[in-house]
Amino acid sequence: MRKYVIMGVQGSGKGTQAKMLREDLDLVHISVGDIFRWHVRQHTKIGAQVKRAMAAGELVGDDLVAEVVRRRLGIHDWNYGFVIDGFPRNGRQAEFFMESYDIDAVIHLELPDDEVRRRVLSRRLCPNCGMDYNLIADRPEVEGRCDICGHGLITRADDTPEALEARLTDYHEKTRPVLELFRRKEVVHDVDGRPPVDEVQSAIRKTLGLSGYRADG
Ligand code: AMP
Repeated sequence: MRKYVIMGVQGSGKGTQAKMLREDLDLVHISVGDIFRWHVRQHTKIGAQVKRAMAAGELVGDDLVAEVVRRRLGIHDWNYGFVIDGFPRNGRQAEFFMESYDIDAVIHLELPDDEVRRRVLSRRLCPNCGMDYNLIADRPEVEGRCDICGHGLITRADDTPEALEARLTDYHEKTRPVLELFRRKEVVHDVDGRPPVDEVQSAIRKTLGLSGYRADG
């Protein structure tokens, strides 16, 4: 059983790296942002509560976040473990989490703010099947269309320059202290988020003492 948290500013590749770990290690990937986006799409009560904060790039209230995480982990479909992404984002969330679950490792993807801006503002999403694209590194074959389902691509409502600046400020102010908290428990593994995706995945495997990524042969 492996219980991992993956942290890093938006655009650092958390989601991509978490999905690669999930596929190879049979982990459940839990993205709090994806859960909220699902609620917004489905027009649920939670969706109505989080829509405005999300569009502005602000954090959703801690109680609601804790409730969503508790419910998701309460499903207990994670026989081999989980990798959680986008949580905890501040001290209160970290305290709730550490009281309830032991964490084996925190993977911290490091990326300078300028690189974050470059990446995030070129990010595109298929609202139909959820596939992510990036106009710099991972372009769709036909401009503006999803390679998988052909649906038109959109920019995430919170990937505007204003929302991004709000999230960067929030990250530095609130999420950094969470990292410091985890550092005191000696579970943090710092990984450079700048290299290509496969190299970052290999570095994560190495520092966690896992078998090599398949691209390593
Ligand atoms: P993400 O996909 O992780 O960038 O999350 C998208 C948005 O969902 C964030 O900008 C917040 O509005 C909200 N959100 C996701 N995770 C959290 C969290 N742990 N605490 C508060 N808000 C969150």
